[in-house]
Amino acid sequence: MMENTNEMTIIFDSRPVNEALARVAVASFCTQLNPTLEEISDLKTAVSEAVTNCIVHAYPEKLGNITLRCRILKDNVLDIVIKDKGVGIPDIEQARRPAYTTGGAERSGMGFTIMESFMTDLEITSKPGKGTTVHMRRKLQRRQ
Ligand code: ATP
Ligand code: MG
Repeated sequence: MMENTNEMTIIFDSRPVNEALARVAVASFCTQLNPTLEEISDLKTAVSEAVTNCIVHAYPEKLGNITLRCRILKDNVLDIVIKDKGVGIPDIEQARRPAYTTGGAERSGMGFTIMESFMTDLEITSKPGKGTTVHMRRKLQRRQ
């Protein structure tokens, strides 16, 4: 049965101001799972890294769409998809390596490593010229 599921999708411009929107949207959505403060903080950090990547890397010279989808799956799992239609990633394995960046001196290349450490699962799919999808899951403690 579907009684434990719920889903939301928001689509927003790749403006820096919307990084906070995405973080707060995920934090609000997950309150129905009665998360700990640490879990909320972990989720916000991971979402912030993924959305910042869309803003900075996917659409370097123009604005584009970012889609954020959150779903609650069974056993208290929060499923998050962040998707862009930007430049794409030619080599995902390389991009996931700690300290790998194409972003120059102001980037540390730690975004994917941070997402991986705060989430239970991280899956990245991408097509150069078409865009990138980051799919992450986090199993939350059951506190109800
Ligand atoms: P940091 O996150 O520490 O500021 P970073 O963004 O470079 O630095 P990651 O978030 O780990 O580090 O991303 C690694 C690299 O993967 C980026 O430098 C960029 O080349 C590529 N990348 C990540 N997300 C995207 C995306 N949505 N579209 C295109 N390229 C991306
Ligand atoms: Mg990053």
